[in-house]
Amino acid sequence: MERSSSLDLRCQQDVEKFFSDRKPEYVFLSAARVGGILANERYPAEFIYDNLMIEANVVHSSFRHGVKKLLFLGSTCIYPKFAPQPLKEESLLSGPLEPTNEPYAVAKIAGIKLVQAYRKQYGCRFISAMPTNLYGPGDNFDLEKAHVLPALIRKVHEARESGAGAVNVWGSGRPRREFLYVDDLAEACVFLMRNYDGDDVVNVGFGEDVTIRELAEMVAAVVGYDGALEFDVSKPDGTPRKLVDCSRMTALGWVPGVSLVDGIEKTYNWFIEHYSVVTGAEV
Ligand code: GDP
Repeated sequence: MERSSSLDLRCQQDVEKFFSDRKPEYVFLSAARVGGILANERYPAEFIYDNLMIEANVVHSSFRHGVKKLLFLGSTCIYPKFAPQPLKEESLLSGPLEPTNEPYAVAKIAGIKLVQAYRKQYGCRFISAMPTNLYGPGDNFDLEKAHVLPALIRKVHEARESGAGAVNVWGSGRPRREFLYVDDLAEACVFLMRNYDGDDVVNVGFGEDVTIRELAEMVAAVVGYDGALEFDVSKPDGTPRKLVDCSRMTALGWVPGVSLVDGIEKTYNWFIEHYSVVTGAEV
């Protein structure tokens, strides 16, 4: 694995050099510009440009250098805003996207099409998986950029530490989201690399969703915070629901292993151990 500081995947020359020097046989393309609902609204140019460049460079170099197999990771926000729930793979390109993350979603859809085009034209063994919202150790806890789960862990922890009587939760609390623990996704990726070689995208989900209110209550229970939750409706709700249908993955023989409450606990423990690094705070 390379960090973006040592290899800029947006730069075609650097990616070509990496592939000719290192000759990878199996490529897991998880690198992306990602962020929560506010970051997507604020930085639409980076969200579309960076992701298009990363995908185009890595997929093309993988083809040029004869990579044996490539797995491209997309996202469930590729599905139309009002597609039937749980989201089936067939819903791709069947309606308009959620506007708060459309540039990101369009880039990820382009990635799927790249993978399918190289498979069709050149017979490359390139496949795509669509993970649901991920969380876990190493997550982004910067409140401007974070997704909801790490953001709530940080907000609730800091409210408990400072003795604040309430935590600000964005939106109405009514949207539903599904969360998959990062180690489960890593396992699913290896599983797909070994067991799947098809043109269709494959959803990787947890199988159940919760409302943002329920999530905030679970985080409060794990952190041990008994203050109030205040819902800030000046912030966007985003798409009402994004539960994926994982029957394709289940039929292949894979199911996730980490429950949401266990995953929140593991993530919270990691967050406390790395508090000063991830928040830039003096301790
Ligand atoms: P999304 O799944 O692409 O909409 O991205 P997010 O994970 O950023 O947001 C999911 C939902 O959680 C949205 O309805 C947000 O408004 C809500 N939410 C509540 N509090 C927070 C918060 O502190 N940060 C973020 N990012 N979302 C929050």
